[in-house]
Amino acid sequence: MSASSASSPPVDWDVIVVGAGAAGLMAAIAAGRRGRRVLVLDHANKVGKKILMSGGGHCNFTNTGTTPAQYLSTNPHFCKSALARYTPQDFIDLVDAHGIAWHEKELGQLFCDGSSKQIVQLLLDEADGAGVQVRTHCPVQPPRRVDDGFVLDTAIGRLRCASLIVATGGLSIPSMGATGFGYDIARQFGHALLPTRAGLVPLTLSGKHQERLDALSGVALDVEAGCNGAHFRNRMLITHRGISGPAILQISSYWQPGDDLRLDLLPGRDALAWLQAQQTERPGTELKNVLAELMPRRFAQRLCEIWLANRPMKQYTPAQLHDTAALLQAWPLVASGTEGYRTAEVTLGGVDTDGVSSRTMESKQVPGLFFVGEVLDVTGWLGGYNFQWAWASGMAAGEAA
Ligand SMILES: Cc1cc2nc3c(=O)[nH]c(=O)nc-3n(C[C@H](O)[C@H](O)[C@H](O)COP(=O)(O)OP(=O)(O)OC[C@H]3O[C@@H](n4cnc5c(N)ncnc54)[C@H](O)[C@@H]3O)c2cc1C
Repeated sequence: MSASSASSPPVDWDVIVVGAGAAGLMAAIAAGRRGRRVLVLDHANKVGKKILMSGGGHCNFTNTGTTPAQYLSTNPHFCKSALARYTPQDFIDLVDAHGIAWHEKELGQLFCDGSSKQIVQLLLDEADGAGVQVRTHCPVQPPRRVDDGFVLDTAIGRLRCASLIVATGGLSIPSMGATGFGYDIARQFGHALLPTRAGLVPLTLSGKHQERLDALSGVALDVEAGCNGAHFRNRMLITHRGISGPAILQISSYWQPGDDLRLDLLPGRDALAWLQAQQTERPGTELKNVLAELMPRRFAQRLCEIWLANRPMKQYTPAQLHDTAALLQAWPLVASGTEGYRTAEVTLGGVDTDGVSSRTMESKQVPGLFFVGEVLDVTGWLGGYNFQWAWASGMAAGEAA
């Protein structure tokens, strides 16, 4: 396809969607079903790249327990309307209608039995059925406001549309086509942007904090990670650069450099009562061997080398047992940073929702301009919530554009 020239004849579309990811395709489908002439443009070589790589290749496409409480946003009320109007069951019905087999993994997380490709194909089939046209390999220049609509110079020429839906996602995984284009458009039209940072991302350790855990790379254990009032109980994995695993990815969205991060290493247990029972039942057993019953032996040993005194249980005074329990329930970990957008599943922050209608996702200051999905300052927890937001916000915009 050749680049456009200024003399290209205008082509009229009711709706142009920039970004053929989860939110953009859903918005296009909803608008197309209403009889709108819809064109979706994406600069990448194929649609839905993040869907393809999601859920370890099986796409965790929704979470049956979705509520607004699982989303981070400067305005926690913003996501309510769209989530209430397009529910996980609505997407499950669509998945079922396409004969895609799925299963619940844990905590309401629904995955395809087969490949994530099935979800991309579902969206493409629905888009096709709704008369939507989709163009990949199509870079887009910043749009201009003209009369009641927008003009875009693109790789397939100069295009005019009445409504423009910005669905360009966040900054995570640039190698998959992520750009800040949506933020540029928002800024261009006078929208406020909230600072962006990587979320659902491994945390890095440095200096002595990294050296202390270095030998434990590959060890995984159950923890409850806590930071800034948020708590997540799940697996933690020690890596050669820091810590990862679902508990850490979840808490990373609440953590910023300098914040206090605490891990309960005996989640769901009263550590003091448990230690006291061990002291009574196994007075001659050393602490590291007692702990090894509830966590990997190598981890228990390292804990006792660096953070705890290792003695036979009978030698601990009540005060020492109390201190040991306190450390096990709030083990302080000093993270130095995150792995950043290279590996982050999501981008926190983005287009300030104050400037956007929560009902339609339309700009309050520029009629006809819509923002959907991750480009907005709405970020879900790990577990299918981000796709549910993409579907719900896309649907809200597509029904209005
Ligand atoms: C590795 C990984 C695994 C994940 N797994 C899950 C999961 O299992 N469940 C879940 O709920 N969430 C998951 N997520 C998060 C989820 O993928 C995103 O929240 C979701 O895809 C956001 O949808 P979106 O449509 O807003 O943006 P995206 O899906 O990122 O789509 C944006 C689209 O815009 C296009 N684009 C960007 N810039 C331009 C430009 N300048 N011009 C034209 N096109 C442009 C991109 O090519 C892309 O196609 C995962 C994310 C990652 C990175």
